Amino acid sequence: MFKNKEAFLFDLDGTLLTIETDQFLKYYFGALSSKFEDLCKKQDDFIKLLMDSTEKMIKNDGSRSNQQAFMEAFMEKIEVKSKEEAAKIKERFDQFYQNEFVALEKHFEIDRENPLEIIEYLKNKDKKLVLATNPLFPKEAVEKRLSWTGINPADFELLTHYENMSYAKPNPNYYKEILGKINVNPENCLMIGNDLKEDAVAADLGIATLIIEDKLIERGACDYPIEWRGSLREFKELLKKEI
Ligand SMILES: [Mg+2]
Repeated sequence: MFKNKEAFLFDLDGTLLTIETDQFLKYYFGALSSKFEDLCKKQDDFIKLLMDSTEKMIKNDGSRSNQQAFMEAFMEKIEVKSKEEAAKIKERFDQFYQNEFVALEKHFEIDRENPLEIIEYLKNKDKKLVLATNPLFPKEAVEKRLSWTGINPADFELLTHYENMSYAKPNPNYYKEILGKINVNPENCLMIGNDLKEDAVAADLGIATLIIEDKLIERGACDYPIEWRGSLREFKELLKKEI
């Protein structure tokens, strides 16, 4: 299965980082809405605003960065009137991601052993590593969250985030955009994730997909071929046996 594979694409949440996405979103929305309390008094209204703008970003069509897609939708909804006002709001987001966002780590128990060993192992085998996390957050937030596992972000050739990507999962174009950036053919890549839609859709491009079941997300019937499934520990053992 690992023969001729040059590049390993890893999802983050629920794959390398042992947190439940739903739980993470709950803390994330809570922390972000308190940062914008003055703009939107009701927390529920703010969360809706955030989800709607995130939805626009997820549907981004490649014409601009995901960050631009998000900010445009967000500014439109809160009726920003000037460029200065928009700049201040963007600054507030940046500060949030540098401070409060990073502090969310305290809510989770994180497995450091398996993820770190897997990445070190592949690095020593000279494999190209890509952090193929849904690109809905800024670079700094993605790097900090990856480092919660003890992994050094510099070990990755590419980390996808909302500034460098113009598509998001489950759009197959997201994976196409990655292939273009790392210049590797799909048949020489593996996608390792925990989501039978968002990660498994990589199979549409001919990328073999492996599913880590520790924090499996099913979303109904799976329409994509899965090359292998098991726990992160089993994946590590298989890797060491085969390469
Ligand atoms: Mg995931």
